[in-house]
Amino acid sequence: MASRYDVAIIGGGISGLALLHYLRRLKPDASVRLFEAETRLGGTIGTDNVDGYSLDWGPNGFLDREPLTLQLCDELGLRDRLERANDNVSKRFILRGGRLREVPMSPVSFMMSDILSLSGRLRVLMEPFVKRSVNGADESIYDFVTRRIGREAADYLVQPMVSGVYGGLANRLSLASCFPIMREMETEYGSLFKAMIAKARKARREGRKSGGPSGPAGHLTSFKGGLYAVIDRFAELYGDWITTGRAATELTRDNDEFHLRFADGGRESAKAVVLAVPAFNAAQMVGGLSNELQKAMASIPYAPISVVCLGYDSRAVANSLDGFGFLIPQKENRRILGSIWTSSIFADRAPDGRVQFRVMLGGDGNHEVATLSDDELVRSAREDLGSIIGVAGEPELVRVYNWQQGIPQYRLGHERVLERIEAELASIGNLYITGNAYRGIGLNDCVKQSHRVARQLV
Ligand SMILES: Cc1cc2nc3c(=O)[nH]c(=O)nc-3n(C[C@H](O)[C@H](O)[C@H](O)COP(=O)(O)OP(=O)(O)OC[C@H]3O[C@@H](n4cnc5c(N)ncnc54)[C@H](O)[C@@H]3O)c2cc1C
Repeated sequence: MASRYDVAIIGGGISGLALLHYLRRLKPDASVRLFEAETRLGGTIGTDNVDGYSLDWGPNGFLDREPLTLQLCDELGLRDRLERANDNVSKRFILRGGRLREVPMSPVSFMMSDILSLSGRLRVLMEPFVKRSVNGADESIYDFVTRRIGREAADYLVQPMVSGVYGGLANRLSLASCFPIMREMETEYGSLFKAMIAKARKARREGRKSGGPSGPAGHLTSFKGGLYAVIDRFAELYGDWITTGRAATELTRDNDEFHLRFADGGRESAKAVVLAVPAFNAAQMVGGLSNELQKAMASIPYAPISVVCLGYDSRAVANSLDGFGFLIPQKENRRILGSIWTSSIFADRAPDGRVQFRVMLGGDGNHEVATLSDDELVRSAREDLGSIIGVAGEPELVRVYNWQQGIPQYRLGHERVLERIEAELASIGNLYITGNAYRGIGLNDCVKQSHRVARQLV
């Protein structure tokens, strides 16, 4: 028999689970139910533990700069399971001309570095003299960065960073939607450098650390044994409010009540519904409520991403693996986007005497990766690791995790899409959205959005 809930949450990734947690705390007497299509919870979060290796399927951590996420870990009783990245992995590398170059972390090391040509470095130094833009139009990350610090820095410093975070192309993504802080820095201070100096002074006065132009400093953080620990904990605490293996297919409304249909033929009703699913899944459900909402949600594109995890005897690797890993500019024409040296970051991710790499392939510039077989992905990953950091021989462990529609792309005009979605939601009433498709793609963003929605609901 169909039940009638106060709130139905669709989707059991971090966004849906965090929302369930907040609702249980803020309004324990409300009848809430979370429906997840798969038989497992977690969405893109997963960890396999195989032969002493811990392999993360998707995300491998979050930055510890969002107080709400750390507070959530406390509330879940997970504070003592938190694991911070090793302090000695501050070195990051970028491939240029087939060779890894260390990303300079100070103005002096930047001027000494060969990551950009001399003229490229001098052009970066001109940044404080570049006039601020008076044009309020949405600008791509690439255009913004080229305008402020030059084309070479855009190609060799910023594009790889954008592909590392978004699996995206800097010339397609909206600066205002992806890195709003950078836009504010220009608007407020007239220059990124001036803004960084002002922010660093303020942070020093307040006894904090400050970050770079893309945001405040943070330390990559996960849980001992892998990120899935957080999902296990949600399941332990809230299993009674969760139904897995139940895919919602359609959402309609009559009077004050939403009616949900499920792939198994069942139905449920709820006074309020939260869609905590990727935008393309949400679009499939809402056509009966609003065509405009459906169109706007379906217009948010996603990029495919594949993660190839490889485990080796450490003697197979020529490079010292002293660092976080490397990213590859598009201009280098490699198939892989880069590699994270997982066991340098979190020592317990490989057994003693072994190392683990994560290699990322795909992204918005490389959709054909979604058509490659796992064998082809592994071959590409091994070839590039071999030529770039001297990894030789057979890996003793191989796992491939494919995300066909892995990472939402906040393209130019994303803000307008959000305005359309929000206008439709407001006119429907009691229908909410959370998740990484809208206002921030990281785990911290998902937690923040779900916290906001929970407060709106109560
Ligand atoms: C390869 C990769 C690496 C990443 N690395 C990082 C990282 O290191 N740090 C970081 O902060 N972020 C990272 N991210 C982003 C991060 O993983 C996501 O932002 C976050 O996990 C999204 O969570 P979510 O709950 O919004 O969505 P999802 O994890 O996609 O969960 C949505 C859930 O909804 C379910 N669902 C879909 N349709 C239906 C339906 N009709 N009915 C019921 N349930 C449905 C799905 O099965 C799924 O479980 C990475 C992402 C990928 C793909």
